[in-house]
Order: sequence, then C-alpha cells, then structure tokens
Amino acid sequence: MAEKLKLICDKCKVEMQEIEANFSYLDRTFRHKVNRCPQCGQICLDEELVTGRMSEVESKMEDK
Ligand SMILES: [Zn+2]
Repeated sequence: MAEKLKLICDKCKVEMQEIEANFSYLDRTFRHKVNRCPQCGQICLDEELVTGRMSEVESKMEDK
C-alpha cells in the first residue's frame, strides 16, 4: 500500500492536518476532507477532487 502523501505548508513549513470541511455549492452542502495548516490556517484543496464533486453536483441538477 502506498504511503499517504503529507502536505507541508509553504509559509510555515509545518505538516498540514487533514480536516473535514463543509462546502456549499449551488445550494448543496457536502463534506470533503481538506488539508489545513495548524499554524496559519491555510487550506490546501485537492483541486481534482473538489472540481470532481462540483461537477457531480452540477450533473445531478441537470438530471432534473
Ligand atoms: Zn502555514
């Protein structure tokens, strides 16, 4: 099994922590794990996952 990639904050050079955050998009709310710096609070989003979830929401709305 591959070891999980640890993200380091560019500013603080500390290891980012994985947290669950709520996102609102097109009147929908969903939870997604993001990496957040415990020192400066900067959030590093996994762009591919987030845009994937958002296009998922969009396609569900188009289904109607
Ligand atoms: Zn930081």
